Amino acid sequence: MSTEAPTYRFARPSDKCVFDAAQWNMLIHILETYVPKLTPEETEELKKDYYEHVKVNPADEKALEAYAQESVVDVPEVLEDLDWIFQRNVPEDKVAEIKTVLNILDTRLGALAFTGSTIPMYEKTRHEREQIIQGWSVARMATLRKLFKAFQGMARLLWSRASPVYHRAAGFPGYPFTKESEEEYKKIKESAAALDANPEFKFEDLSQVAAAENGVIRLSTSILVIGSGCGGGVVAGHLSKALPHHQLMVVEKGFWYPIHKAPITERDGSKMMFEGNGTMQTNDGSLSVLAGSTWGGGSAINWGVSWQLPARTRKEWSEKFGLPFATSSDFQDCLDYVSQVGQVKSWDDLDHNPSNAAIVKGSHRLGEAYVSVPQNIAGSPDAHSKICGAFCSVSCKGAGLDTPSRGGKLGVAKTYLADARDNGAKFIQGFEVDKILFDNKGNVTGVEGLWRASPDEPAGTGKKVIISAKKVICSGGTMNTPAVLLRSGLRNWWIGRNVHMHPVVFCQSQWKEETRPWEGSIISVANTEHTNLDNDGHGAVIEGMLMLPGFGALTLPWNSGLEYKKVMLRYKHLTSHVIIARDRDSGRIMLDRSGKGRLDYTPSEFDRANLMEALISAMKINRAAGAETIFPPIYNAPIYTRRADKEEDQKHFDDTIAKIRRMGLTPDNTAYGSAHQMGSCRMGPTPRMGACNDKGKIWEKNGLYVADASLMPASSGVNPMITTQGLAEWVSRGIVADVLREEAGDGKSAKL
Ligand SMILES: Cc1cc2nc3c(=O)[nH]c(=O)nc-3n(C[C@H](O)[C@H](O)[C@H](O)COP(=O)(O)OP(=O)(O)OC[C@H]3O[C@@H](n4cnc5c(N)ncnc54)[C@H](O)[C@@H]3O)c2cc1C
Repeated sequence: MSTEAPTYRFARPSDKCVFDAAQWNMLIHILETYVPKLTPEETEELKKDYYEHVKVNPADEKALEAYAQESVVDVPEVLEDLDWIFQRNVPEDKVAEIKTVLNILDTRLGALAFTGSTIPMYEKTRHEREQIIQGWSVARMATLRKLFKAFQGMARLLWSRASPVYHRAAGFPGYPFTKESEEEYKKIKESAAALDANPEFKFEDLSQVAAAENGVIRLSTSILVIGSGCGGGVVAGHLSKALPHHQLMVVEKGFWYPIHKAPITERDGSKMMFEGNGTMQTNDGSLSVLAGSTWGGGSAINWGVSWQLPARTRKEWSEKFGLPFATSSDFQDCLDYVSQVGQVKSWDDLDHNPSNAAIVKGSHRLGEAYVSVPQNIAGSPDAHSKICGAFCSVSCKGAGLDTPSRGGKLGVAKTYLADARDNGAKFIQGFEVDKILFDNKGNVTGVEGLWRASPDEPAGTGKKVIISAKKVICSGGTMNTPAVLLRSGLRNWWIGRNVHMHPVVFCQSQWKEETRPWEGSIISVANTEHTNLDNDGHGAVIEGMLMLPGFGALTLPWNSGLEYKKVMLRYKHLTSHVIIARDRDSGRIMLDRSGKGRLDYTPSEFDRANLMEALISAMKINRAAGAETIFPPIYNAPIYTRRADKEEDQKHFDDTIAKIRRMGLTPDNTAYGSAHQMGSCRMGPTPRMGACNDKGKIWEKNGLYVADASLMPASSGVNPMITTQGLAEWVSRGIVADVLREEAGDGKSAKL
């Protein structure tokens, strides 16, 4: 008997790869099936379909041939990212689950149970594998449906954002994407040396700081802010100005990317600027979670929608959650103040890109309510969008150089953190707070964490640092603040509970005319007709959606490799809308065995029903606006394609909707997302009703405050940046009052 190890078609990409040779080989065979190399007959069909649909500036034959020939495994970056994500981002127990599945698939009995045949997947032809995978998407066994969802997400996202062959064939230029943006980018590059010599922000370099004998670096400040996002940024700006006699320090686990070093590709942006390198998921895999993790937090990568908290929600917070400040003029003043700093203004109706214009046209035709969306853009929003387009999520290209006409998103690094800098605050990037420290009387004494010099060092590694402080403000965001507090030993019942996500689904459409969906502002208008479906403030809003290729790829239907490649090729004729539910129901963040926060959240039946109603409305809006084809976000759902005959068309549309209703939105049959996490340390009038009081002060300890989106007692119901900033302003005013009161008192606490 031979003892030689078998050689596999796909070799492990690195020594550190978490999978063994057999598991990796199996995994890649599965992923290859989703984005395959096409046969010559399929290639001809693909081309025919393409020329039928894409009449303006079609790609040349060579580009189409190359596209047809490429499979997901031909893109080295995909394999590299996959290896990297499993090593760095996927929790150990999830890796173990996937390994188990891959092992099972490699046994005759396991293959029989999962594929209906004893022959392992890697010995099957692509078409056989395709049939198996199609079966998984509608299988009775939930494990198989979950496998389908997880694997299709990996293959499609990693490929579509990284493949130059695909981008060329689909006509996606990447950044710079217009003549104007090219000119601006040239200017940025020319200024690189000056920007390096005189950086906007300077960070403490702890590699130069001597450690104590036990290897721990010790620093001190009087006020310490954890996190530099929408909450932390506002607090830092406010306190550094109002309490100039106290040293203020901001620690941020992410890194700063000045405009000339900011990522310009979707792939780099996700890896460099997002929490968990853009791979975060709920425990059950039902929902992908996006949050910023960089200097400026979410404000650096978000889409600029700047709505104030609606009156209805403020009333609810006041009356139902015992937070009367929510309807006070003092809180209104906080919302107005942060809106003014962000130079918030609305669009006029003329300059929307095709995706937003479709909402206007369709809503108008249906007699539904829609509004222009306010944004925190300096200068003219339209001028800005010609430079940035839909690239906000990989940092704002308009916000770097000070040319007023070009505009730029006013994230907190452009405003509050700049104020903090000017008022002498100190900043540390790459510093992840592990826990907050207290004395035996419950007074905060500082924080402990790890510092890494560069993003190349994996998160969770680095030098141990203790920073002493008399006041700590935790602004790590909804996903992180409860994890820090739980690791610090806090036990209030609400810490980690009440997590709201604004779960979203997507509706994509195809148009006769070119839409170039990467151009223009992502969200400049919204349909608000369905925001109160239960007469209790729950429903969903319909907005434009980011359409860089990865985002687009993830939400289009996958019925077969060929059909998927056909639709992806029509990319410059597509639009996407995001349907955002104000969720009534919530989830929970808990620590896993390694002390990391993990999110238990599944979109509830109630919230999914609201999403379904708004999804159907989004389809109606797109049809009324003239879309040729509409793709619902449900796997294996029927696709609406416009018919020439009006009556026949109506019947076809009604049938499509009826079938979609019957299928329903289930946790497994739809790719859900969330970019709005809220509520994991909610405020309340008593410790039984909240983790913090109505000024963000943690009930259990002294000198510790929360100031971020986790404070909200329920979903904001609108994109939550301005609410978060308004709350942070509110908390900051309270902290200043506390400090001044303490200073005016016996003087003990005055000397922070
Ligand atoms: C893609 C996307 C688009 C969005 N678009 C919009 C929009 O158009 N309009 C809108 O209103 N909202 C939008 N949002 C949501 C908005 O950005 C967030 O609601 C907001 O940023 C939340 O603010 P925060 O302070 O709670 O957290 P964040 O802004 O996320 O800041 C938290 C910061 O803390 C850091 N941190 C976390 N833990 C630690 C630790 N232990 N130690 C040190 N640092 C830590 C993180 O790295 C992060 O930088 C969007 C979000 C995303 C992801």
